[in-house]
This record gives sequence, C-alpha cells and structure tokens, in this order.
Amino acid sequence: MDKGCLYIVAMPIGNRGDITERAKQVLSAVDLIAVEDTRHSRPLLQMLAITTPLLALHEHNEQKLVARLVDQLTAGDTIALISDAGTPLISDPGFPLVRACQQASVRVIPVPGPSALICALSAAGLPTDRFLFEGFPARSGPARREQFRRLKDEGMTLIFYESSHRILDSLADMAAVFGEDRPAVIARELTKLHETILSQSLGSLVELVSRDLNQQKGEFVVLVAGAVRDAEAIDPETQRILEILLEEMPTKQAATLAAKITGIKKNRLYQKALELQEG
Ligand code: SAM
Repeated sequence: MDKGCLYIVAMPIGNRGDITERAKQVLSAVDLIAVEDTRHSRPLLQMLAITTPLLALHEHNEQKLVARLVDQLTAGDTIALISDAGTPLISDPGFPLVRACQQASVRVIPVPGPSALICALSAAGLPTDRFLFEGFPARSGPARREQFRRLKDEGMTLIFYESSHRILDSLADMAAVFGEDRPAVIARELTKLHETILSQSLGSLVELVSRDLNQQKGEFVVLVAGAVRDAEAIDPETQRILEILLEEMPTKQAATLAAKITGIKKNRLYQKALELQEG
C-alpha cells in the first residue's frame, strides 16, 4: 500500500455482500478511517474484522478537520474515507477534503463500488447514454417546483435522491411540472430485502405511492425520462438568427441562409419566418 494517500472507498448501499475485496484490504491496511457516523459504520467494520481506528467526519466538522487530515497525510499517514452508504462525495461529505488533498499534492485513490444512482440507473430501463444527477431536490415546495421547472425541457434522464419524508410531495411536484404522462421509475430500498423498482407514468406513480404506505418507506432514487424534443421546434438561437436575416432580406432568402447556418430544413424555417412575420 502506498503511504501518505487518501483512499475514497465505496461501501454497500444495503446488501453487505456488495463490499469489494479491495475495499476490505484497504480498510484493514490504512492508519485511519474517516467515517460519516462511527455508530453506523462500526458494526459492518466489526463484522469484517477491521480494527482500524475511526474518526467521525461529517458535514458539521468537515471544514475544521480538513487541515488536520491533510497534515497527517503529508506526514505519511494513509487514510480512507467512507460514508454511511455508497460512494463518498456523492450527496455525502468529502469534497473539501479531496480538493484540499489535490491542492497539497496528496494522492487521492478511488476504490470504486456501489452508488445508489448508478445502481438504479442500471436497472431502470430508461436511457443511460446521457443522464443528469440532481442529488436531493430542494426541501421547500416552491424551491423544488422551481428546480423542476428549470429541468422540464432537459432531454437527459433525470436522477434524484429522495427521503421517505418527502417522496410523495416530490413525486406530486414532478407530476405537476414534468406532466402526469412523463415516464418515471422509483427505485426503492435497492439491494435490500424490500427492494422494488416501479416503472410507470408520474401520474400513476403518485397514485400508487399515495395508496400504498409501504411504498413511502425506505430510501429512494427517482428517475424521470428526459423531455422528448419536438423535432419541429425551433430553438431560441435559430429564431434569433432568422429574425436578424428577415430584417435584411426577403423571406425565402432568409430561410435559405438560416438553413445553411443552422442545418434545419429550409421549409420549416420558411414556415417559421411566415409565422414571425404574421405574429
Ligand atoms: N453516497 C451515496 C451513494 O453513493 O449513493 C448516497 C448518499 S445520500 C446521503 C443517501 C440517499 O441515497 C438516500 O436518501 C437515497 O435517496 C439514496 N440511497 C442510498 N441507498 C439507497 C438504496 N439502497 N436504495 C435506494 N436509494 C438509496
């Protein structure tokens, strides 16, 4: 094992069998494990017979501890960072520490493993080629709806984390903003005994979850299909180009030139030009 390195070690998100061999080796060999909550991590570490000293590093003391940990690392200690579940830094503490290590030229070594968002995405049946992870939606209703409004036209698959306290409110807001018909998936209690992956329209999911109290319990990843782009829609930049050209030349010529600039069909742009002139 290299000395003076920070290891970022992913932990299971429910099923303890998902811990990797490499994670076990690293956690046994380091000088210190920085954990989010010692009470949470100790039982699993004990089960694995890992006796490495623990230090609590959470969002409230993170800034304060960073300098001390970087000093320890530059002095040659080796430290692992884990969080309660999944991959550290993914909606979890660790970013200030990793950044400080990079700045101090301390090597940061990732030890990959589970993360709820990738786990959910891999089984959701929604497009995986491009996705947008939003973490937890805002807690207050108005801020959350505003957040969703900003994402309404996004074409990528959207991924959110949500807690049992807000799952129903969040789903209802998603249905209101993205539309009841938008396909979505709720991945609940992944890798655990009561794992469920429900794939329906947002409207149906709101109904189902409000009827079934069991579906309001546990941990959730919510995935929402990206917006389907209207092939006929003219984006604002194209419209701006068309408007400028229309000021300078006849309609047909403006449409032809706009088609050359944007790659959009000439006929569609001609039709749009007529609409703009009428409007
Ligand atoms: N670092 C973690 C990761 O890599 O997935 C995420 C930590 S974040 C504080 C916790 C949230 O992740 C939960 O509220 C839930 O939204 C999601 N999550 C974690 N474990 C999950 C599971 N087993 N099933 C579904 N969602 C889970």
